[in-house]
Amino acid sequence: MDIKKLAFSINTVILLMVFGLAGFFYLAHATFLVWFSIPTALVYIVSYVLIKKDLLHVYVRLVYFWLTLYMSITTICLGYRFGFHLYCLSMIPIIFYTEYMAEKFGRKSIKHRFVCAAIVTCYLLSTGYSSYVGTIYHTDDKIAGIFWVFNSCTVLFFLIFYSSVMLRLVADSEKKLTDIAHTDRLTGLYNRHFMATKLEAANSNEDEKFLAMVDIDFFKKINDTYGHNAGDFILTNVASTIKEICPDSEISRWGGEEFLILTEGNAEKDGIRLLERLRSTIENKEFIFEDNRIKVTITAGIAASHQNASVDKWIDEADENLYYGKNNGRNLVILNRDNVKKSN
Ligand code: GH3
Ligand code: MG
Ligand code: MG
Repeated sequence: MDIKKLAFSINTVILLMVFGLAGFFYLAHATFLVWFSIPTALVYIVSYVLIKKDLLHVYVRLVYFWLTLYMSITTICLGYRFGFHLYCLSMIPIIFYTEYMAEKFGRKSIKHRFVCAAIVTCYLLSTGYSSYVGTIYHTDDKIAGIFWVFNSCTVLFFLIFYSSVMLRLVADSEKKLTDIAHTDRLTGLYNRHFMATKLEAANSNEDEKFLAMVDIDFFKKINDTYGHNAGDFILTNVASTIKEICPDSEISRWGGEEFLILTEGNAEKDGIRLLERLRSTIENKEFIFEDNRIKVTITAGIAASHQNASVDKWIDEADENLYYGKNNGRNLVILNRDNVKKSN
């Protein structure tokens, strides 16, 4: 939501409350509070100008100051049983939030410790005064009770709503950051760093699984012939094809045009079948980029997981098989180097 629109709405709600309360003060014969409502209303009317002129930092300071003053004066005049002082509690999280936003956008921040200390002091002084010295106006207990319930409910509702919104914001932004930290920007696959942690975790259990190192053949030629953007387009599309063919695998972009795929299952039985399917799907595809029909092939090296072997060794084995495939004609899937089947 636009911050200016939000400030306008909040200002309007506060102004309407000031008018409503002025009416009540009039009925309760609290003359001073009726008169005090005039500068209060003026403050919020002037606030519209501040918001319009983008002087939000002045607006925030003015609102903090005036709300604290208003709460203290109403508490001294009517007593803490009305619950006006409770609004101080809802101001504290907003103060921290405003300081956080100011820091985030490099604006002048309000010193939250100082403002909180000032609010707490006013809170204690006004409630202390009204309970020890007594109130200036004496009103019906029933009316005080109604105000207490209304003000408490408003403050509680605000605190619950505010906390739930903040929690959602924090969780969403944490998720976004985690996704950014874990994924490769171009292809949307896991990046090498995150895949390394996945491999460590996979290597620590004894389930049967295999790795496949997949490399696009003669990829440099694609860049040289059609341009770098065409190369990026091919990378993105090959990544999508891998995701489509290997939906149950963990897939990462391991390097420039290399992908590392981790899958549960037997390398001999499942690995060859899966990677052959991927190899032939890509071989038979035509990638159309700016009127160019581009054909590519891939070579893959597979390695089964071995108990007690390190992740590095596991990757090295897949890599060696891949390079064996590269040296033996490309467009191949290699698991066992002594038993290479030319599938193309
Ligand atoms: P081989 O069949 O032996 O794998 O040959 P190749 O040309 O695919 O391999 P080589 O290692 O010679 O070239 C890889 C090229 O990939 C070089 C590099 O410019 C390109 N590349 C790496 N990352 C990207 C990228 O993000 N986008 C694009 N367009 N090209 C990239
Ligand atoms: Mg290559
Ligand atoms: Mg390569």
